[in-house]
Amino acid sequence: MLIFKNIIDLKKFLVTQVENSKSLGFVPTMGALHQGHLSLLESAKDSCDISICSIFVNPTQFNEKKDLQAYPRTIENDIYQLEKAGNDILFLPNENEIYPDGEKPKIEFEYNGLDKEMEGAYRPGHFNGVVMVLHRFLNILKPDVMFMGQKDYQQYLISKKLVEDFHPETRVSMVPTAREKDGLAMSSRNLRLGEQARMSAGKLYAALQKFKTEYQNKENSDLRKEIIEELNQDPLIEVEYLELAEAKNLKLLDKGNANQKSVVCIAAKVDEIRLIDNLII
Ligand code: AMP
Repeated sequence: MLIFKNIIDLKKFLVTQVENSKSLGFVPTMGALHQGHLSLLESAKDSCDISICSIFVNPTQFNEKKDLQAYPRTIENDIYQLEKAGNDILFLPNENEIYPDGEKPKIEFEYNGLDKEMEGAYRPGHFNGVVMVLHRFLNILKPDVMFMGQKDYQQYLISKKLVEDFHPETRVSMVPTAREKDGLAMSSRNLRLGEQARMSAGKLYAALQKFKTEYQNKENSDLRKEIIEELNQDPLIEVEYLELAEAKNLKLLDKGNANQKSVVCIAAKVDEIRLIDNLII
């Protein structure tokens, strides 16, 4: 695996690859890699000639300084995992490489309402940071395909819109959520859960499953209230939201409709660690 920390060297390398008609598959990450990230990488390796993984803990997408500082950083193990998985290129820039002279260039981006609810409402500024960093990466790498996880479904939809608006050379591919045995969505943040909190965290997936089983027979608001109350009975869990939305545009739904693809999304703090998950139904 080749490791590039510098944009100029990476671009030089990529130009020769593209001249040789190699397709580029890009997996952006913030590191602390787990099987979820590796499944994105597998998809990139399956459908493109060259896989590029980036590891960059992007400060502009953290709305809480505490969360940024506590974000797990396990770079040696990440490099080992990537080597083992047969990744071709690791892009490992420092902050100055991505935001030279501390400049944080806002881009004029029309979210079409995708940033209004859920993560957008609970993490002000978060998606501006995501869009800023993805736009920068896409300008540098110009990949054929960018792979995004379903776990961050709202982020996936926003990145798809970003690509449609600004990066027509790229397409976005969504990869299903990788889960632990009890259904907990894999996440770098899971590393911060203590033993008890880890057990509680498994209840989020069970709650989504319950919603999926019952949403067509119950009033949506009653079912959401019931599930949130059940979860909040666990002293370690504090639910932020549980919402049903149209899968294509994230418009919130009052009622489930079997003919319409929808997504049920949850965010909760488990012992102060903020976790999100969703199911497409
Ligand atoms: P992160 O490092 O958390 O920014 O995630 C980088 C990419 O990996 C994003 O596209 C995430 O949606 C994706 N990802 C994170 N966790 C999972 C998971 N459990 N399954 C599938 N994709 C994931």
